Amino acid sequence: SSQFNNVNLAPPDPILKMNAIYKADPDPVKISVGVGAYRTEEGKPYILNCVKKAERMMLDDPNNDHEYLPMAGLQSFTDAAVKLILGADSHIIKENRAIGFQAISGTGALRVGAELLNRFRKSIAYVSKPTWGNHLAIFGDCGFEVREYQYWDPATRGLNESFFDTLRSAPNGSIFVLHGCAHNPTGVDPTEEQWKLVAKIMKEKNHFPFFDCAYQGFASGDLDKDAWSVRYFVDQGFEMFIAQSFAKNLGLYGERVGNLTLVVHNPDVLPKMHSNLCKIVRAMYSCPPAHGAKIASLVLNTPELYKEWTVELKAMADRIKEMRVMLFDLLTEMKTPGTWNHITDQIGMFTFTGLTQNQCKTLVGEHHIYLIDNGRISIAGLNTKNIRRFAEKIDWVVR
Ligand code: PMP
Repeated sequence: SSQFNNVNLAPPDPILKMNAIYKADPDPVKISVGVGAYRTEEGKPYILNCVKKAERMMLDDPNNDHEYLPMAGLQSFTDAAVKLILGADSHIIKENRAIGFQAISGTGALRVGAELLNRFRKSIAYVSKPTWGNHLAIFGDCGFEVREYQYWDPATRGLNESFFDTLRSAPNGSIFVLHGCAHNPTGVDPTEEQWKLVAKIMKEKNHFPFFDCAYQGFASGDLDKDAWSVRYFVDQGFEMFIAQSFAKNLGLYGERVGNLTLVVHNPDVLPKMHSNLCKIVRAMYSCPPAHGAKIASLVLNTPELYKEWTVELKAMADRIKEMRVMLFDLLTEMKTPGTWNHITDQIGMFTFTGLTQNQCKTLVGEHHIYLIDNGRISIAGLNTKNIRRFAEKIDWVVR
């Protein structure tokens, strides 16, 4: 007998579980479109050239070491991350109304931001339905009542207009978690007009925007374009939090490079908020990891590396867009029943295919095609060698 006989098995994360099954499958024709990580045309993980160069610079730098970072992380990185999301010439930065705080990738930025909100600005937290599953877990574990706003409209495979009704009917001052761009899992972003309406209602209702930006530059291939929604909200005078991940856009998944940007009206509150973030992380993990933040800092702050990054970023985004077009063309060529234009309309790493749970299960169980059963596919898992087989199997399960 154990003192832990009362512990029940926790449910596995569906995406990570799917990835483990994919890895264990010995069949060479297997295709993974489950986990959201970029893959090259060869189906391999990609280390960006600018990242390799930054790592070489670190190795050659006699002053580089493995000392602890401060609780708030590497300031050259967090300053650059704030500039990246708000725009280098943002008046908010000049007015000292924004600061960055290094976090354990996007997840950690959401978590420490939620902890701070839980202590000082508690209200109901709204997340999109559907959303990246961890949003519910993060805010739930922080002690929030989490509610969902309808986001996906299965009929149009686009934005659900009732999102605006929920914004209006939510209690004043609610927290709304918004995906800055490349909504996960749907690939559907509001248009600029729709964002303007979201901002207008949120302002009337005094709601608090918490932007999750896990895909800046990765969606359109353009860092500024992908920051449009955030910058629009900043221009509208909101106070807000922004969680930034450098997992996708720098390919630094396992290095856990993230930043929480705080935007406020009154600069005087920032040192106080900063000190409380320090207190929160001190008790959780003391200080964030250094290696990835140093890489990101070098890339963001060294003009040649930055330039090279933007080119590599665009190449990743373009490859994903090409795969979207190719998949659409193949399904059209095969006259696969249904409409498929959402594949090219949606943006970012994912497409919400509209495949049913049973169709997904058949793909996994009988065809060595690994996807989660809500029908979301990570386009990055496709390449010119496997896309035809992928399309044929979709065609097969749909008929
Ligand atoms: N938010 C969203 C919407 C995501 O898709 C992801 C990555 N799957 C993250 C946050 C954070 O990921 P990470 O912690 O690896 O930066």
